[in-house]
Amino acid sequence: MCNHHPVPAAMDAETKAIHERRVVIQALAAGATLTVSSAALGGCATNPETGEKQFIGLASAGQLNQMAAASWSEMKQKTPTSNDPRYTNRLKNIGSRISRGANRANQQWDYAVFDDDQKNAFVLPGNRVGFYKGMMDFAGNDDQIAAVMGHEVGHVSGRHARERVSQQMAGQLAIGAGTIIGGSQMSKRCDRYQDARQRAQCQQSASRNTALLSQALGLGFTFGVILPYSRKHESQSDLLGAKYMHKAGYDAHQSVKLWEKMAANSPSRQPEFMSTHPDPARRARDLHNYIRYQESLGSQGWESIQMPKSG
Ligand SMILES: [Zn+2]
Repeated sequence: MCNHHPVPAAMDAETKAIHERRVVIQALAAGATLTVSSAALGGCATNPETGEKQFIGLASAGQLNQMAAASWSEMKQKTPTSNDPRYTNRLKNIGSRISRGANRANQQWDYAVFDDDQKNAFVLPGNRVGFYKGMMDFAGNDDQIAAVMGHEVGHVSGRHARERVSQQMAGQLAIGAGTIIGGSQMSKRCDRYQDARQRAQCQQSASRNTALLSQALGLGFTFGVILPYSRKHESQSDLLGAKYMHKAGYDAHQSVKLWEKMAANSPSRQPEFMSTHPDPARRARDLHNYIRYQESLGSQGWESIQMPKSG
């Protein structure tokens, strides 16, 4: 499973707190059926955008997309969306520019502005990007909205949801079964019985185990898509976002401004957006270093999310 161990032994306290705070998207768990092949369990892939090896084999893009679709419409039912073109058109325009900057203009994107003053934004699998009005108002100019948009698109190209869900599922499997065995593999093993009755018995118990396995995986899903991303994913998305901003012709430095503003805005109480995200002052600093470094590379710049060597 890639070079690092992908399975968190337990949710850390931070993650847990966030999970409890977020009451979004319970629909995800409902009716999730899963098939797991043993090949998928090996599932490591190199991400072309980041060059990193990722463990994503357990969650197929199709399954995630399906569940995200359900969550997306549920969210729209719970929170009113804005029809005000000053918000919706603006977001759509910024979104399409950023998707071009990310070489993803050929994909289908879905945008919604939620009529709520939270300073928050998110992306769900299947390229569904949600912004709260509060975030757009706070950002103020297009470049700063583009910084948040770029960040969300960074989660997509970083394949963070798939990685997260795969890790969660692997965690569930490891906890539930001790060993990871795919359902199809279990019933295949029954072929070794010559006797028809023994074979039937074996298959019966295999399908029971498969059901248990599916349950365990279903549990994994309830976390996966809703769970906030790790700090590592957040930082990676910040850098990817700045890169997409630059490629789309926005001023990447405005991402630094946005996070500085966030930091100044929240000395005592954290805005929502930050509760799931790293310290804004640090984000601003990292982005600043990254942007300066890319600029220093001249024509070689902006091709990777490489940070300057420490210092
Ligand atoms: Zn994020």
